[in-house]
Amino acid sequence: MPVQRGRMFFMNPGPTNIPDRVLRAMHRPALDFAQKEFKAIYEECAVGLKKVFKTEQIVLTYAASGHGAWESAVVNLCSPGDVVLVPETGHFSASWTQMATHYGLVIETVPFDWRSGVDPAAVEERLRADADHRIRAVLQVHNETSTGVAHPVARIRKAIDAAGHPALYLVDTISSLGSFDFRMDEWGVDVAVGGSQKGLMLPPGMCFTGVSRKALAASQSATLPREYWDWRRMLDGERQARFAGTAPVHLIFGLQESLKMIEEETLDGVFARHARLGAATRACVAAWSEGGGPELFCTNPDLVSNSVTAVQVPEGADANRLREVCGERFNVSLGGGLSRLNGRVFRIGHMGDLNEPMLLGALTAVEMGLDLAGIPHGKGGVEAAMRSLKSAVH
Ligand code: PLP
Repeated sequence: MPVQRGRMFFMNPGPTNIPDRVLRAMHRPALDFAQKEFKAIYEECAVGLKKVFKTEQIVLTYAASGHGAWESAVVNLCSPGDVVLVPETGHFSASWTQMATHYGLVIETVPFDWRSGVDPAAVEERLRADADHRIRAVLQVHNETSTGVAHPVARIRKAIDAAGHPALYLVDTISSLGSFDFRMDEWGVDVAVGGSQKGLMLPPGMCFTGVSRKALAASQSATLPREYWDWRRMLDGERQARFAGTAPVHLIFGLQESLKMIEEETLDGVFARHARLGAATRACVAAWSEGGGPELFCTNPDLVSNSVTAVQVPEGADANRLREVCGERFNVSLGGGLSRLNGRVFRIGHMGDLNEPMLLGALTAVEMGLDLAGIPHGKGGVEAAMRSLKSAVH
């Protein structure tokens, strides 16, 4: 590999770029996590996290990747043999399902086309058919990072209510939180699952579980074995008083800084920036798609994601070859296609600490990479992205 200079343009949909401010905030000696000084920092983070989740209920922090928050939701709420309903929308909903299966839960899947996402009416119909309310929970991924489809969490809540079903509503916000709107309380979400390494601009290694009062009450009767993930061990009333084991102190130092950055930009400002970057990326891909070139994987214009764009290459082309070319020639890192999309899709992450010129630089490299990898494509993608960015309202 030739020596590369300058910064790698890191366009993966997680982990994401870590701002220098966050790196500097973590560059300090450890603190005793039982000490007042650390507790004050965590208290500040707990307040900031609730604002990001848009909740006044509980948000718990664990040292773990997002898988931990998935597991925390399942083991605290379910008992062996419980039925859970999963709208199947991509690699991540399938992986969460697999985890639930390993815990002895009975899965009812509502399969959807991965390219067009969930239709709330189909979820409502399935819940209505469950007349004796055997379904304990609905497991929904807000932003399917594998497909670039952002699901309508509020509309699915309405579908659950319209069916008159008491199921708990569990939502994975791992690649939407801090990138585009999510409202735990207003949208009636019982458990919201989040991770540190996406919109929150932190290293991987910390995850979050938003817990509604209804979920907390339901957790009392659940009988799956739980130890590390047990919410009861961490809570004092509705407050996280303890960590499960050693607190991830440096990640918390970083979180304190990233929450400050979000507060300075405002959440609405963060969402507007992601919307501009998402729209510009899609404008670029639309130009590439002319004449049968690489196209948006998401075919539902109402559900396009502002944090990640999945791009499907033409039949016979290799998306992984393109990623290699972009990495080797231009020091640009792109996400690959997951499970059955491997080789068919590449993913441009545009979440977290990213601005217009960073995105344009990456799109330019991809456009050159398409030529070098011999993938036919329409011309003028980067110009289309520039036009989109110029006309975007600030
Ligand atoms: N859910 C979604 C939507 C994700 O994008 C990811 C990871 O990218 C996960 C769950 C799993 O999170 P982790 O890899 O941090 O365990």
